[in-house]
Amino acid sequence: MALVDSAESRLLIDGKLVAGSGGTFATVNPATEETLGVAADASAADMDAAIGAARHAFDDTDWATNVELRVRGIRQLQQAMRDHVEELRELTIAEVGAPRMLTSAAQLEGPVEDLSFGADTAESYSWTTDLGIASPMGIKSKRMVAREAIGVVGAITPWNFPHQINLAKIGPALAAGNTVVLKPAPDTPWAAAVLGELIVEHTDIPPGVVNIVTSSDHAVGALLSKDPRVDMVSFTGSTRTGRAVMADSAQTLKKVFLELGGKSAFLVLDDADLAGACAMAAFTASMHAGQGCAITTRLVVPRARYDEAVDAAAGTMSGLKPGDPTNPGTICGPVISALQRDRIQAYLDSAIAEGGRFACGGGRPADHDTGFFIEPTVIAGLDNNAKVAREEIFGPVLTVIAHDGDDDAVRIANDSPYGLSGTVFSADEERAHGIAARMRVGTVNVNGGVWYSADMPFGGYKQSGIGREMGLAGFEEYLETKAIATAAQ
Ligand code: NAD
Repeated sequence: MALVDSAESRLLIDGKLVAGSGGTFATVNPATEETLGVAADASAADMDAAIGAARHAFDDTDWATNVELRVRGIRQLQQAMRDHVEELRELTIAEVGAPRMLTSAAQLEGPVEDLSFGADTAESYSWTTDLGIASPMGIKSKRMVAREAIGVVGAITPWNFPHQINLAKIGPALAAGNTVVLKPAPDTPWAAAVLGELIVEHTDIPPGVVNIVTSSDHAVGALLSKDPRVDMVSFTGSTRTGRAVMADSAQTLKKVFLELGGKSAFLVLDDADLAGACAMAAFTASMHAGQGCAITTRLVVPRARYDEAVDAAAGTMSGLKPGDPTNPGTICGPVISALQRDRIQAYLDSAIAEGGRFACGGGRPADHDTGFFIEPTVIAGLDNNAKVAREEIFGPVLTVIAHDGDDDAVRIANDSPYGLSGTVFSADEERAHGIAARMRVGTVNVNGGVWYSADMPFGGYKQSGIGREMGLAGFEEYLETKAIATAAQ
């Protein structure tokens, strides 16, 4: 793997690729359980140096005001990723266990192309707004509102879509004029470390503007939330960790942007094509072994057609065998780790303990001794109070729940601590939109529409997060607002 030299990655601190002072830690192929190599293991001292470098680059250089330099740097990074896309693809499949077919979309090439959005927005953005002259309190004043970078952004990311999430933070944060310290998940250090190599070797991004700190120790990431030199934390991960980030950040009252977990509902109304809708729900829940925060994992169907819906979902899911992610036909690869696989198994066991049944799947596939695989599983016979209906599983598991009409379907969808995403299927688009309007979620798919794209804001209601990533709203998350009034004659 040419991009990660001698299979040992480095930290990027103040423009230099350096070893971690905590030594190294292994990164593992989840499909084979083989150690791919090692990554630099940062200590608290490395994080301290990275934050210091980001602070200096923000305070003492023209990065925050030089739009042309920022746009050039982002486009150079994008081009470098395009030029190395085949190496990045193999790295992503090996380290993330991402099925090859997903690397042409949200796992790799999608987010690389989406870097254009931040660069284009920075070029065309109205950084100041003239509010004209007014006389508040009788004093004639020329007023303007300026938008400017927040400062040093700490970006903390998970392992499931590392390029998508790393770039959806770095791109807009840099485009808006911030400097960044990125702390990726310990399970996918190389996906972040390669950005460091590409930035140093192929871009004019100045030292300290981007720092990449891989670490096996979650506490090293927590320093970003606690450190007063960091102005904002942009976090994606579990709701539990999001709470810790928010609590730590409260000490210095820094801005916290959170993209958290989900337990999204797929509502099938009584006039919809039931078989088609259930097949889509089953397919979606199996992709990347269900490791997507916005995947609809509760399939909510008319009670009168419950058995038919379970059979349709199971018919699709039982055909999606978990398999080798290097194979172009694989939809469902491995989950990231043995820990994650065992967590999923515990959820499956809880479904049986609560009186549910498996319409397909239910555990580890018999034909995979090695690798962290779980069979795509349809759970039937439970209602929305079951543990598997309330908690995020992050595996290829779909729970089918009966509803008694539109109001009940909406009630079930909203009866969740989460509010990330949702889907509605109906033959009547207006009726579906009426339901979409009542769902307390950040994104809705109506009849198969795709909300994921660089110009669409993504994020959650309730305990799924605070703020929006991507789109203009995502760019503006990384801006402060300054009101300036000048005494006028
Ligand atoms: P996680 O919360 O365990 O870890 C995420 C990141 O936080 C990692 O980099 C980890 O090292 C770091 N971390 C852990 N403890 C920390 C602390 N106390 N302070 C600061 N950082 C800390 O999540 P995960 O298991 O890596 O990822 C899966 C979770 O991410 C799921 O809940 C999933 O829904 C969520 N997710 C959400 C979105 C979204 O956009 N809403 C996208 C992808 C994943």
